[in-house]
Amino acid sequence: MANSLLDLRSDTVTRPTQAMRRAMAEAEVGDDVYREDPSVNKLEARAAEIFGREAALFVPSGTMGNQTAIKVHTHHGQDVICEERSHIYVAEMGTMSAFSGCVPRTLRAPDGILTWNLIEPLVYRAAGFRSRTGLIELENSSNLAGGTVYPRVVSDEICDRAHERDIPVHLDGARIFNAVLALGCSVIELTGKFDSVMFCLSKGLGAPVGSMLVGSKPFIDNARTVRKMLGGGMRQAGVLAAAGLVALEESPKRLHIDHENARFLAQGLAEIPGIKIDPGKVVTNILFFDVSGTGLSSYELSKRLAERGVLANGTNPRVIRMVTHCDVNRTGCERALDELRGILAVAHGAAQA
Ligand SMILES: *Cc1c(COP(=O)(O)O)cnc(C)c1O
Repeated sequence: MANSLLDLRSDTVTRPTQAMRRAMAEAEVGDDVYREDPSVNKLEARAAEIFGREAALFVPSGTMGNQTAIKVHTHHGQDVICEERSHIYVAEMGTMSAFSGCVPRTLRAPDGILTWNLIEPLVYRAAGFRSRTGLIELENSSNLAGGTVYPRVVSDEICDRAHERDIPVHLDGARIFNAVLALGCSVIELTGKFDSVMFCLSKGLGAPVGSMLVGSKPFIDNARTVRKMLGGGMRQAGVLAAAGLVALEESPKRLHIDHENARFLAQGLAEIPGIKIDPGKVVTNILFFDVSGTGLSSYELSKRLAERGVLANGTNPRVIRMVTHCDVNRTGCERALDELRGILAVAHGAAQA
């Protein structure tokens, strides 16, 4: 165990549990493009129920879910307002422009959390010169801004003000169950005002593949068509949906462990000389820390960590990201901190010699 690989790169690396594998082996299946896969139908019905919506759609990836939503909500030449570190902007291959013909209208917000005050000056609905606002998108929890969360009043206000102007709002809720846990409210309370929500089964919930889109019946009908355009019409997808259903029912109950481990890591990191992190800002399962005070670049440090079996990626030359998940326990977190201290002791010893 001591020498096994500890993977803190992302919660996407989680592997399906025994219960998921059993459910996959036993899944009833049919052709989902004909809407005849009972396991997919069950997963979609359950996701819609949990989110208090009319309908849901199983998609192969979160990217396809988000980009499908953007396509349904917008027309070519419109703006999509989003935070400048948002996944739809920085990590989805420019698809909002390539596929939906949209202009990303980005802005930076403290900790990645937009407010209506920040958004309002970018909203443009008049006929005239500028491209018009077609969609506002929020990410909860934020990924690249450090797993931070939108207080419900903030996201509610954005939805209300946007709707007064007939602008739809999409939620990238890849890790919505982490956000719900951190905020202590229900999924329906936190997401009810959004026109559409995407969430991932394949991140902290631990399913091998898949994400969900939820919304009104007309929205999901349109999304189903767009999913097919993107090549996301799957056939006997019930083997995947069966794992997704286990993830949806069982995994949210254990996410508090990941949050506790992330906080533990953050507190340990804060005590290491040369490393900068504010543990108070670590409220979910993602943490970023600045290593520039150690004298090593993030890339060098992550290379040395990897040599000791601990995986964590540098996101720029100064910053490393770590993500906790169901395949990382407290002992693993202690080991990551020990290895980091060991590497820095060697580096500083060499510097003094
Ligand atoms: C992971 C992630 C997605 C979706 O990613 P896929 O790899 O396409 O499933 C979307 N948004 C956020 C914030 C994410 O972290």
